[in-house]
Amino acid sequence: MSLDLMAGYEEPPDLADEGVWLECIETGEQYAPFEEVRYRSDAGALLEVRYADLPTFEEFEGEGVWRYRESLPVEQEVTIDEGATPLYELPRLEDEIGVQSLRIKHEGMNPTGSFKDRGMTVGVGVAGELGVERLACASTGNTSAALAAYGGRAGMETLVLLPAGKVAAGKIAQASLHGARILEVEGNFDTCLDIVQDLAEQGEAYLLNSLNPFRLEGQKTIGFEILERHRNEYDTFPDRIVLPVGNAGNTAALYKAFRELVASGALSESEVPKLTGVQAAGAAPMVEAVEKGKDEVERWEEVETRATAIRIGNPVNAPKALPGIRATGGTAVAVSDEQITDAQRTLAGEGVGVEPASAASVAGLRKLREDGTVGSDERVVCLTTGHLLKDPDAAAAAGVEPESVPGETEGVLEHLGE
Ligand SMILES: *Cc1c(COP(=O)(O)O)cnc(C)c1O
Repeated sequence: MSLDLMAGYEEPPDLADEGVWLECIETGEQYAPFEEVRYRSDAGALLEVRYADLPTFEEFEGEGVWRYRESLPVEQEVTIDEGATPLYELPRLEDEIGVQSLRIKHEGMNPTGSFKDRGMTVGVGVAGELGVERLACASTGNTSAALAAYGGRAGMETLVLLPAGKVAAGKIAQASLHGARILEVEGNFDTCLDIVQDLAEQGEAYLLNSLNPFRLEGQKTIGFEILERHRNEYDTFPDRIVLPVGNAGNTAALYKAFRELVASGALSESEVPKLTGVQAAGAAPMVEAVEKGKDEVERWEEVETRATAIRIGNPVNAPKALPGIRATGGTAVAVSDEQITDAQRTLAGEGVGVEPASAASVAGLRKLREDGTVGSDERVVCLTTGHLLKDPDAAAAAGVEPESVPGETEGVLEHLGE
């Protein structure tokens, strides 16, 4: 794994004096971070935020995302106390799946109920630094909820583009009440992202999708938290992290967290967890690329799944995420909607309420354990990305039916006795 894992981190940067800079992931070309709005390099490739000083565990202090301020590009300005999410034990599920240990990192416990808050506390802070006026994103729902909340917090105008009819009720309610202007687009998420990228290029708004490299810096802290907490409790880092994949921003962000820690010497290469991505079978272009050993992901024009948060056919962060899956010895797997719902029920039965996309991680782990890809000796962390209440319709459909009873005790007893 060593070559990929350290790619770019050996060379002394030209912009090191600045402390923070943007770098093209393909050509290595560097740009000053806050002088102009820029989402891609001159070569048209993705950008990555780079730092002169890389993090070690010792220098982290405080709670939540901003505990990791030393490895973030801006100061804490727009915060609603995001991060510091639980790493739950689920003994029954651990037993059933049959691994050395299993923990659930529940990102649904963030302020707006998804990990997107971690990206927005940083991304909206950068927007303030750049002095932009209007923030925008395309979203399958959670990004819009988070952007609306953080934009509102910062007192900035927010615009969100959603695929009409394909966003869960809780998420639209949040975007709406937090004060975003909501455009319902005839088309899927990928179409929304195409449009919002055009708007951003024309200077109409500052783009806060995960194409924006600053957002991934905030999401990188999921990786730091998992590693720190896991080591505190088990005296060792996890062997594998399993996560749902939509645009593959989190996959890219976790990989970046690992690379920074390896480059600083805080983590050895053999300790890097295997990044394991899970997609819904109806929207699985990353899985296809991993299975076929391809370097590029082919866009799926038609996508369908109950897990609307990962109903994405063109994962924009694939060029960052695919190398991460490969370099860490991980893999990617597709699961059916039924397997997702089963996993959602199992998690809920043990007290952890997640939305369908989140349950994909557990469904994927089940499948990979059954086919022997994941060994019984592994310590695994599954990421659950969003809260159950985000998608009340999916929860109600997966749960039990309420029963009608009369309004007196006798009648209720009679009903119970049936
Ligand atoms: C955004 C989102 C995802 C997809 O994450 P990526 O970083 O785009 O791969 C998965 N689950 C939920 C609940 C989300 O909101």
